[in-house]
Amino acid sequence: MGVNNVKRLTVTLDDYIIKIAEEKAKIMFKGNMDNYINWLICSNNKQEVKKIVKTIEEKQEKKKPLEVPETFKTAMFNNVCDYCKQPIYQGDEICKAEGYDSYIHRKCCRKVMDID
Ligand SMILES: [Zn+2]
Repeated sequence: MGVNNVKRLTVTLDDYIIKIAEEKAKIMFKGNMDNYINWLICSNNKQEVKKIVKTIEEKQEKKKPLEVPETFKTAMFNNVCDYCKQPIYQGDEICKAEGYDSYIHRKCCRKVMDID
């Protein structure tokens, strides 16, 4: 997701549990314990996570600026998206959006036909 709030969580575990977790994190997530713990919790709570993620995505979708019709094109140069602040790479789908001067990711726009 990436756009969510990230908080720090401190846990206390037995030594041998930590060793096992570190070993698993190494094998499954190149040693990234955050990703391993996240995976454990998500795979143990699939329905709840799915529901919450869906709600978050719907909220985010509504916040997106409207795509200006017929401005969709493929990026010819690398740039930065003014909406998500992430890089736009050559070849990415971009378009103009209401309230933005520069082209932004097309995925960062709400499509005009999606209005309800
Ligand atoms: Zn973007």
